[in-house]
Amino acid sequence: VKGIVILGSTGSIGQQTLAIIRAFPQCFTVVGLAAGNNLNLLMQQVNEFRPRFFSCLSYPEHSNTVFPDGCFPMPMEEMVAHTDTDMVVVATMGMTGLRPTLEALRHGKSVALANKEIIVMAGQLAMLEAKQHGATILPVDSEPSAIWQCLQGEDSEASRVIITASGGAFRNRSPEELANVTPEEALKHPTWHMGKKITVDSATLMNKAFEVIESHWLFDMPWEKIDVVIHPQSIIHSMVEFCDGSVKAQMGPPDMRLPIQYALFHPKRVSNPSLPRFDAIRNPSLTFEPLEPKLYPCFDIALEAGKAGGSYPISLNAADEVAVGLFLQERIGFLDIYRVVSQTLDAAQPTCDGSPESILETDKWARARAREIAAA
Ligand code: MG
Repeated sequence: VKGIVILGSTGSIGQQTLAIIRAFPQCFTVVGLAAGNNLNLLMQQVNEFRPRFFSCLSYPEHSNTVFPDGCFPMPMEEMVAHTDTDMVVVATMGMTGLRPTLEALRHGKSVALANKEIIVMAGQLAMLEAKQHGATILPVDSEPSAIWQCLQGEDSEASRVIITASGGAFRNRSPEELANVTPEEALKHPTWHMGKKITVDSATLMNKAFEVIESHWLFDMPWEKIDVVIHPQSIIHSMVEFCDGSVKAQMGPPDMRLPIQYALFHPKRVSNPSLPRFDAIRNPSLTFEPLEPKLYPCFDIALEAGKAGGSYPISLNAADEVAVGLFLQERIGFLDIYRVVSQTLDAAQPTCDGSPESILETDKWARARAREIAAA
């Protein structure tokens, strides 16, 4: 029985993780649940799964809320390090999960990571902590999970990985049309149902650049060996090419529960009747297109920031989080996301030594700068 802590349990990935746990109650025990502001849903989850610990950002203001007996508030950093915790599912958004993730790695825990921003900000540090403390990072994102699955059982190194991208909500728009798109339109993802931030990141392809950065660190893959191709059907989740030219693809209907379940049970696979199955006849055409740089200017600057390292990927992530937040509040336009991020990166200084303190400091600076740029 695996002891699980879920950080971000009320978000999209958190809820789907609990759906898997609900389907296999004999395999897991929920040690702790952490949420941001959705205290009501957290209460429901606590009543169903009976964790020993919970954490909720908005709890102190509602401390008259009565949690069941035997369930105590505990900071995320402490619940991930608890002796009963075997695996931590990091499904938080943005940088909230950074400190607890590093803490979990330092305690040698398995970390199922859905919050790719953590690797964007602190990829080198996270990999180092994992190595030093015998911890493992299991990708929960569908593309890195696909690469991970394709690499199973191979003794030879991959010669190339090909990450697929749906192209997001605006694949068929012209660059001119993008100026006036609304948050509502940006949130209509053609193939995936996800949280708001990542759905907008899919429309700008920022999310895809994050996945390239994530794959670079998780699989120790040189930048020049990572390609991205538009695949509108989201059936092939990514591909790996080997030295003999053979290419393995991992396929399946777009449903996050599969990569979540794969990470939870790794190295075993289990049958789950509630997951959708692939039907070749109903998916007669799987197509590919090149990524059109004019349509997705965020992709290139994000990738450059990732390659440059130091303070750049941290500033990238912070500026994107600020810009997407403002776009969702209809305070800036869709194309302003690129403007805010690129101008923040232009102003960034390459001074960050990669320590958690300097990561947090850079993040704080970049958020403030991005807000100023957005307001200008
Ligand atoms: Mg993904």
